Amino acid sequence: MDTLTLKHPKVQQFINGHFVDFPDDPYLDVISPLDGSLLSTVPLSNAETLDKAVQAAKTAFPLWSAIPIKERVQVFYEYMNLLKKNSRALSELICEEGGKTLIEARAEIDKSIELTEFACSLPQMIGGEVLEVSRGVECHSERYPLGVVASIVPFNFPSMVPHWTIPNALVLGNTMVIKPSEQVPLSVMRIAALLKEAGLPDGVFNVVNGDRTIVEAICDHPDIAAISFVGSTQVAKLVYTRGTASLKRVLALGGAKNHLIVLPDAVPDMTASNIVASVTGCCGQRCMAASIMLGVGEVDHIVDQICEEAQKVIPGQNLGAVISQQAKERIENYITEAEKLGARIRVDGRNTVVSGKEDGSYVGPTIIDNVTSDMAIAREEVFGPVLAIVRTQTVSEALAIENSNPYGNATGVFTQNGSAARYVAERASTGMVGINIGVPVPREPFSFGGWNESKFGALDITGKSSIEFWTKLKKITTKWNAEAGVNWMS
Ligand code: NAD
Repeated sequence: MDTLTLKHPKVQQFINGHFVDFPDDPYLDVISPLDGSLLSTVPLSNAETLDKAVQAAKTAFPLWSAIPIKERVQVFYEYMNLLKKNSRALSELICEEGGKTLIEARAEIDKSIELTEFACSLPQMIGGEVLEVSRGVECHSERYPLGVVASIVPFNFPSMVPHWTIPNALVLGNTMVIKPSEQVPLSVMRIAALLKEAGLPDGVFNVVNGDRTIVEAICDHPDIAAISFVGSTQVAKLVYTRGTASLKRVLALGGAKNHLIVLPDAVPDMTASNIVASVTGCCGQRCMAASIMLGVGEVDHIVDQICEEAQKVIPGQNLGAVISQQAKERIENYITEAEKLGARIRVDGRNTVVSGKEDGSYVGPTIIDNVTSDMAIAREEVFGPVLAIVRTQTVSEALAIENSNPYGNATGVFTQNGSAARYVAERASTGMVGINIGVPVPREPFSFGGWNESKFGALDITGKSSIEFWTKLKKITTKWNAEAGVNWMS
């Protein structure tokens, strides 16, 4: 590849505080979904390169973990300032490699800042417990970092998902190797440069680019103590099984199929705009995106309004691109199959071309009514700006459809009736519930994580729950003979 034709320098590895190349690595093109242009190339490295990064992290661990947390956190205050200073450039990079709109990319950087801010509060939260458990005997607990940990991340949030793990794991004293998605490797390299600029010691944070070879090597590496994975359910299961088989602590977040239950008394304007924003935000490529609406009873007036709202979302303007041409094809196939089975396409986003960006991967907003719960589009994760609407007669029928889906990330309910909302919230088989909210992401200090096939492993990935995941607890029981001490003192 002639590197002069690349918009960005070719991607390197970041090991022991240095950006390095391994000339024998094969390279993969990094293509912008916005216009199909060649942004860069990313190395698909191997287990030896991973080992170099792990050894750097292992060497850095004793020094880094011995620094008091109140001092470690100072690096992240500085890093947070650098994130703010570089917000515009980072947002533009997310747009280029991930296909988002600038507003969405900026929101992602704002969230990355919020996650770092939470990590900066960890010294106030991590204090242990102490109790006199019997006369003269005191038990107290202390938290310790795990050692070298790994973070494996997906394409859809090139900055936010890495920030789910980096600040908390490192502030808590661990050292890390991260594997970015090979589809969007550029943002993590910028994050590495900013962490270095903030003063993070060499080896504490390392980046190894690659594909499944690196993921499998992470699962097997004897010096990695814990793995955080975020991606599809299929790969989450593989990582959880293989990582725990080599006796690691693993938290693996998977895919989603989020149901919104809409009752006839829902406020039409607010409901329609919330649902459309949930379906089309980040082009539907969010694990919290609404994917299926269960309309209970007479909700035609709300469906009409959803269709009107959806038509205001314009590809290339307020709607970004999906990650690749393959993703576009997969999404359009789901729509076509549903149509063939008798579903009614109310708003059709297939065959979207944006003028001047003919090689971009665009799918317009799509609203499909009269979907039945047995169709693939109602059961599987589509990961595009598509809403399938299934009609039901009762809330129980809607809940039965939601509960029978294997995923369990989020459920929404739209109604003005508090009892009905509570009824759904209690019975939904998901880890996160929104009441009149289309994207119910819990913000710090609450934790993020689904149930069922949307998450494997105990605990959640962010918030207070992450303290448990990234540390191990030591319990110390102490008894002193006070009288002996007094005699000696006198
Ligand atoms: P993906 O599973 O294809 O890839 C995730 C990571 O795994 C990448 O780093 C990739 O290189 C690696 N990988 C891919 N195939 C592999 C294989 N066969 N063996 C080992 N490693 C492999 O996911 P994606 O397409 O990058 O991201 C989209 C998915 O992530 C969606 O399913 C979405 O719902 C999910 N996601 C979930 C959450 C959550 O919080 N639950 C958050 C964001 C994204």
